[in-house]
Amino acid sequence: MDFSTPPDLQEKLDRAAQFLEDHAYPIEAQVAREGFRASLPALSALREKVKLLGLFAPQMPRELGGAGLSFREHGRLSEILGRSPLGHYLFNCQAPDAGNMEILLQYGTSEQKERFLLPLIRGEIRSCFSMTEPDRAGSNPTWLDTTATREGNHWVIRGRKWFTTAADGAAFAIVMAVTNPEAPPHLRASQILVPTDTPGFRLVRNISVMGHEGDDWASHAEVAYEGCRVPLDHLVGGEGMGFLIAQDRLGPGRIHHCMRWIGICERAFELMCKRAASREVAPGKPLGTRQMVQEWIAESRAEIDAARLMVLQTAWLIDTAGLHGARDAISAIKFFVAGVLQRVLDRAIQAHGALGLTDDLPLAWFYRHERAARIYDGPDEVHKSALARRILKTYGLKLGGED
Ligand SMILES: Cc1cc2nc3c(=O)[nH]c(=O)nc-3n(C[C@H](O)[C@H](O)[C@H](O)COP(=O)(O)OP(=O)(O)OC[C@H]3O[C@@H](n4cnc5c(N)ncnc54)[C@H](O)[C@@H]3O)c2cc1C
Repeated sequence: MDFSTPPDLQEKLDRAAQFLEDHAYPIEAQVAREGFRASLPALSALREKVKLLGLFAPQMPRELGGAGLSFREHGRLSEILGRSPLGHYLFNCQAPDAGNMEILLQYGTSEQKERFLLPLIRGEIRSCFSMTEPDRAGSNPTWLDTTATREGNHWVIRGRKWFTTAADGAAFAIVMAVTNPEAPPHLRASQILVPTDTPGFRLVRNISVMGHEGDDWASHAEVAYEGCRVPLDHLVGGEGMGFLIAQDRLGPGRIHHCMRWIGICERAFELMCKRAASREVAPGKPLGTRQMVQEWIAESRAEIDAARLMVLQTAWLIDTAGLHGARDAISAIKFFVAGVLQRVLDRAIQAHGALGLTDDLPLAWFYRHERAARIYDGPDEVHKSALARRILKTYGLKLGGED
């Protein structure tokens, strides 16, 4: 593995970091205070500036209007962008649009690309991904109630989803629905494009998360699909391919999530160190003179560096051994980095005392949004259990389906 950064990539990373310092950091507190939708004019103006930087939709091919970064280059950029809660949005590689772009790029028909993918890449519209349901355990994604039935030339979708991130203001959803309940579990569901102006698409509410409903991109919605009719050609990939596509989306997506979390850790770490060096707890005695605070700093430094090395190694494995060959590493980084993120954020908040809980700094925003890192894309326990089972299998331990 080579840990050096090619000069042209380093130049892009520096450009992005400088942009965030100059333009994103200064408006973070205002966006937290006024809400995302009210901030859209300012955010849209900044997105135009990012286009001029040549880094808009960084992971999409140049011929489609993206910046053409490779999978690993995009991972490195994702760390830089993670330093601001606005970073990924400003560069148009925010969840869930980034994943939806990747799905449509890989599986979309030319009509689907024209109508749904290209406007996403240009940043003209947003999208959402609707899989999790309130009445079914999201950690067992093969068990869904939402159905899509063929009626003439249409799919008719019925069901209820929640935690459909960024549905508020999205132009379309990619919905995971059961198309063949008789098929083996992993072949039951399909992914279907549903424009949000389709009759029967009803945004029930933005769910209040830790006291904040949020709005626009910064929200998570409950959505009812009440007999939504969409043409048969709105199916993505083939019928029954829903899980396969979801798996393809999740593997590389985890690298980007983890690198984003590392970026958050670096920002929190920086704020913690600045505070430790400047906040005096007694005359002439800054916080950083206290050994417990020194321990937070040393532990955080080591944990963040370890996390980054694991993620870079996993990205290298995906490139060299494929998703299957990298699956243990993919499971390990998901829970390990999410744990590092939670600990580093918590220490940074603690080091700031009451200030750490306010929206004057981005720490509280990060914490509110990223406590979920240990839950979404598979809870910690599911990844730990999958990893341990695969390891134990090599030692000859036989485990039943749900032992
Ligand atoms: C901020 C946020 C954004 C999200 N965005 C989206 C989105 O855009 N689209 C979408 O479709 N979904 C989204 N989700 C939903 C997310 O994918 C689910 O929350 C996740 O899959 C877990 O499902 P669940 O919440 O139903 O928890 P459950 O499946 O009910 O699990 C609850 C808990 O049980 C434990 N557990 C579960 N399985 C096991 C096991 N095998 N062994 C041991 N313990 C276990 C874990 O501790 C887990 O946290 C989002 C969630 C959050 C919090």
